[in-house]
Amino acid sequence: MLTVGEAQARILAAVIETPREHVPLAEAFGRVLAEDVQSPRDVPPWDNSAMDGYAVVAADTSDDGVSLRINETIGAGEVGSVPVTAGTASAIMTGAPVPEGADAVVMVEWTDAAREGAVTIKGRASVGQHVRPQGGDVASGEVVLVEGQVLTPGRVGLIASLGMPTVAVRRKPVVAILSTGDEVIAPGQPLGPGQIYSSNNFALAGLVLEAGGVPRDMGNAPDDLDGLIEHLRACLDADVVMTTGGVSVGIYDFVKEAYEALGAEMDFWKVKMKPGKPLAFGRVDQGGRTVPLFGLPGNPVSCMVNFYQFVRPYLRTALGDPTPYLPMVDVIAGETFKSRPGRLRLIRVQLTIEDGAWTARSTGSQSSGVLMSMARAHGLMCVAEGSEGPDAGDAVRVQLLDSGFLSGAVARYH
Ligand code: AMP
Ligand code: MG
Repeated sequence: MLTVGEAQARILAAVIETPREHVPLAEAFGRVLAEDVQSPRDVPPWDNSAMDGYAVVAADTSDDGVSLRINETIGAGEVGSVPVTAGTASAIMTGAPVPEGADAVVMVEWTDAAREGAVTIKGRASVGQHVRPQGGDVASGEVVLVEGQVLTPGRVGLIASLGMPTVAVRRKPVVAILSTGDEVIAPGQPLGPGQIYSSNNFALAGLVLEAGGVPRDMGNAPDDLDGLIEHLRACLDADVVMTTGGVSVGIYDFVKEAYEALGAEMDFWKVKMKPGKPLAFGRVDQGGRTVPLFGLPGNPVSCMVNFYQFVRPYLRTALGDPTPYLPMVDVIAGETFKSRPGRLRLIRVQLTIEDGAWTARSTGSQSSGVLMSMARAHGLMCVAEGSEGPDAGDAVRVQLLDSGFLSGAVARYH
């Protein structure tokens, strides 16, 4: 059986990056840059005022104060027409270009405009004061962002400030989601004897969105080989196919056979982890295009944990993200966690601050079907294959599923 690391390495080696596309900036948030962004211009494009005030020649001012004749008023969006010379000043608004001759701006609070057509500058100004220099933020030709960076709001704003209306990103991979099982029905329908509602289609759709893909819900396939094959065929025009259920050793577990019947080359079937030991990974040729197939387990938590360890890294890599894994933090175990070694264990935990340190505590039953403990989880605590698990107070490593636990009801700045 492969370790989680070995399985991840095989999956990443099989990644097919999606093609580049150019999207309007308004749609760029959260996407991954598919090329470096080089500035075509200086930002700001010219020296401009950082304050409402007066553009002056710094050498003209003194500690004792000086009265200067006002040439004109330059608003943002206007360009001054009169050079500033000794004995004169131009009124200037924030963002307006600094007029020729001036080398400093004195903020309005340091002036006195009591006399018509003249202003008193009350103190000494230094050269460059309150002037935002041309190219001071970004110089023309500078590489401001690099391929693989995620487009945060600040980065999208930066690209807009360069005057670029579109940006190159990788196309979002379309991920087909097919659940399997004669017992599985969609929410909204009455529950018959022996039936359960599918949670996997919905949890996985959210996970795909979170990972930057486009989920395509292909419904549910019955537990018979022909029906399964037929449903799978309908999935093959997606970039990635994910099924849930039917990958263990039950009499009705046909997923492996169905994949093979489609001509798929299977890579592995199991990984050394808990929850989520059954995991089928293979590839099928679809008219010259290779489609990866992920057979995730049916148990709702196993299915999600498997997605996080294997499908998410695949999708992030396909998008060009060089950091495809979930972030990890080192925290303290708030209680003793013991279990049988032999597989990597991923334990659903909540993170809170106890005695000044981030501390992990179990969210409840760790059974692979219990979604309640997944719904409460902030992260997955990793217990290595060879370890029995930490004692209370030991250092542990937690994979973060969500940063929501960091947010507070009230903003606090100190
Ligand atoms: P399987 O891997 O098909 O043996 O399924 C394992 C367990 O997961 C069984 O209890 C199934 O009823 C349950 N299960 C399978 N598919 C789903 C689904 N889509 N949503 C919720 N539970 C499921
Ligand atoms: Mg099943």
